[in-house]
Amino acid sequence: MHEFSVAESLLAIIEQEAASYGTTPVVAVKLRIGKLSGIVPDALRFAFSVLSEGRRTDGATLLIEEVPIQISCRACGRVSTVADPFLLCPHCRGSEVELTGGRELEITEMEIADGNQSCQEHP
Ligand SMILES: [Zn+2]
Repeated sequence: MHEFSVAESLLAIIEQEAASYGTTPVVAVKLRIGKLSGIVPDALRFAFSVLSEGRRTDGATLLIEEVPIQISCRACGRVSTVADPFLLCPHCRGSEVELTGGRELEITEMEIADGNQSCQEHP
């Protein structure tokens, strides 16, 4: 399953980020996942909890924010949120569009057991 390799790389980032907070457990991790990333949130949650066993993220909550598909039109300049990636501007029907959202896969925040928060900007 694709989500296992994604979860494993997320865990590597989390453990690296959390290293400066000693060995206290990570209790929650916030993620932004684009609808086009191909990741199924439930599958990722499952993979994450399985891989977290015995690690500092054991039992951590994964808060997933799904990012909609967003396109920017070169013809009329408007930015639209679209349901599926047909990539046609809903305003002028133009096909000169640029994908500006929907491929995200990033950790936006994580919470360490003693209440410290670590924020990470876009990678
Ligand atoms: Zn347009």
